[in-house]
Formats: sequence, structure tokens, C-alpha cells
Amino acid sequence: MKIAFIGLGNMGGGMAANLVKAGHNVLAFDLDEEARQKADDAGCTTFSEPEWAVEDAEAVVTMLPNGGIVKSVYEGSVIGKAPAGAVLLDCSTIDVATAKEVIATAEAAGCDMVDAPVSGGIAAANGGTLTFMVGGTEKAFARAEEVLQAMGKAVIHAGDAGAGQTAKICNNMLLAISMIGTAEAMKMAEKLGLDPQKFYEISSQSSGYCWSLNAYTPMPGVGVESPADNDYKGGFATALMLKDLRLAMDAAKDVDATTVLGAKAAEIYEELAKEHGGLDFSSVIKTL
Ligand code: NAD
Repeated sequence: MKIAFIGLGNMGGGMAANLVKAGHNVLAFDLDEEARQKADDAGCTTFSEPEWAVEDAEAVVTMLPNGGIVKSVYEGSVIGKAPAGAVLLDCSTIDVATAKEVIATAEAAGCDMVDAPVSGGIAAANGGTLTFMVGGTEKAFARAEEVLQAMGKAVIHAGDAGAGQTAKICNNMLLAISMIGTAEAMKMAEKLGLDPQKFYEISSQSSGYCWSLNAYTPMPGVGVESPADNDYKGGFATALMLKDLRLAMDAAKDVDATTVLGAKAAEIYEELAKEHGGLDFSSVIKTL
């Protein structure tokens, strides 16, 4: 397939390379010249204008920083510029309202489009093991699935337009809350004189079992190998967790959802990001 790819950063670079590996003809654009060069090295054909990348494409994938940029790229360079039958896939993490608005604009112009944000970080993007949560019509999902399979290990149809973004921000709000809870429990056990490794052994096999404890233990030298064992470098940056929590809080306000712990988690990550935005989000344990 001829697939245009816009946004070749930390995530998009690896995703575009995996489309090449799957045998697709990838027509790539990024504002950043270095990102374009890397894509070129990975076997993409690069363009210096987004319109040139999309003009012949059967599918267009975007992986961009935020909703404002997604809206301007689609309205300025994709919708009406890509061929009428192309399927459009936005994999960025953005607000639910903008995702729905851009999809409605695309549909009005006769295109199928999905929101398809991802779970999994840069390693999963490079390794082709992302999980995609997809919002859109059955027809748009069926068309997008083939493209997404080449970049991920799971592709799940979440529901109508915007449902992918909804799943993503609710999941990450839960993750933020559970990481803070895990960190608090581990530190408190330690202060009460319990060996943290013993606490891990017990709680990871008891009702405290959760991904933050079992698969991403936030205390160095305890439990499984995780960013904690690498001075909290790599992993999922605090700044990105904060971005997702802000999106979650905006969405909660829109629908009057009660998110007492989500709001507290957002507050805690706002503080952490002021000094340590680049560290993995499990570094929240250092503040306790
Ligand atoms: P990044 O900043 O590394 O990449 C974004 C790329 O978009 C950059 O190369 C930038 O030059 C390019 N860009 C910006 N404006 C553009 C425009 N108008 N036209 C073309 N290119 C433009 O960010 P990233 O880490 O790759 O994240 C991308 C998206 O993936 C974000 O929405 C993020 O929330 C989401 N995400 C990231 C991770 C992660 O671990 N990094 C995990 C899950 C989801």
C-alpha cells in the first residue's frame, strides 16, 4: 500500500519504519529535517511538503504532539489533498472533542477516518508491539486495521469516533492513580519496617496485585526490572503522563464525571513535572 506518514518523532519514526518492513511504500513528512533524514535511512520516501506526501496515498497515518497540530495538519494538508478514497488514521494522543471534530470534517469530505491512539512507548513503537485503541465506524476500522497490524500486537475497536482517545485517557488516569498508590504502599511498608522485597512478594500475589506493582515496580532493586533500576531514565516520561492527565481532567469536566483521585493524581504529576518532567512517571515514589 502507499501510506503517507506525518510526524516522524520518537514514536512515529519507529512506526513508519515498521510499515516499510511490512512491505508498504511509505511517503513520509515531518517539519524536522533530522526526523526526515532518519525516515529516509529507514527506507521511507520523504517529502519537504505534507501535501506532496499525501497526494497519492491510499492511507494517511499521523503521529503528532497535540490536538491543535492534528487539526491544522488535517484541515490544511490532508483532507481535500489526499485522494478521495484514502483512509485516515490519527495515532496521536489528543482530546476527545478535537478527535471527533476532525473525523466529522473528514467524513463530510468523503473520507473514512479513525482515532487510533497507542499504548506502549518508544520501545513498542520500534518493536512493532503497540496496542491500538480505535474509534470510528465499522467500515473505517476494517480499513484501518490492516495498516495498524503492521505496527502493533493488538488492534481493538473501542467504538465510535473518539472512543480510542476516551479509552486511552481513562486507562492512563487509572495507571497514574495506581502508580501513586503502589508507591505509597511500598514506602509505607518500608517505613513500618517491612522489607520492600517481602512486601512485593506478598502484595503482588495478593489483592494488591496490579500492573504498577507487578510489571513496573517503582522501587529500585525490588520486584521486576523497571525504569526504577535505571535511575528512572527511559520508560514513560512524567511530562507525557501529565499531558494525558490534563486531557483526562478536561474530558471529565466536559461530561461532569467524578474523578477525585484522578484530579489528585494530576496535581501530584503537575508538581513532579516541574523538576523531573523527563524522568519516568514511576519516579513519583521519590517525592514520598
Ligand atoms: P515527538 O515530539 O518525538 O514527535 C512529534 C513529531 O511531530 C516531531 O518529529 C515533530 O517535528 C513533528 N511535528 C510537529 N508538528 C508538525 C507538523 N505540523 N507537521 C509535521 N510534523 C510535525 O513526540 P512522540 O513522543 O513521538 O509523541 C507523538 C504522539 O504520541 C503524542 O501525541 C504522544 O502523546 C503520543 N504517545 C507518545 C508516547 C511516548 O512514549 N513517547 C507513548 C504513547 C503515545
